Amino acid sequence: MYKVMLRKNATGEQKLVEIADDWYQDGLSEYMWEDGNYACDCNRAAFFGDDPCECGEIAYTALYAVLEDGRQVKLDADEDAQAA
Ligand SMILES: [Zn+2]
Repeated sequence: MYKVMLRKNATGEQKLVEIADDWYQDGLSEYMWEDGNYACDCNRAAFFGDDPCECGEIAYTALYAVLEDGRQVKLDADEDAQAA
């Protein structure tokens, strides 16, 4: 189990959501958030109880993951930093 801090970009609302999966140290979990299933707005919408929106990667931002040992791993925030 781990947690991810998600931001709904339209409102700025942030929510720390629990993910039942293990965090995979080999980069698989990061991949899932950056390019895999969890990267898509349609799946992220469910964490906010929003109606499934269109597929895309603009409506929600995954800021960072919080692992069971408390360590934080940056997710989409890396892209924000590069774009700034
Ligand atoms: Zn989608």
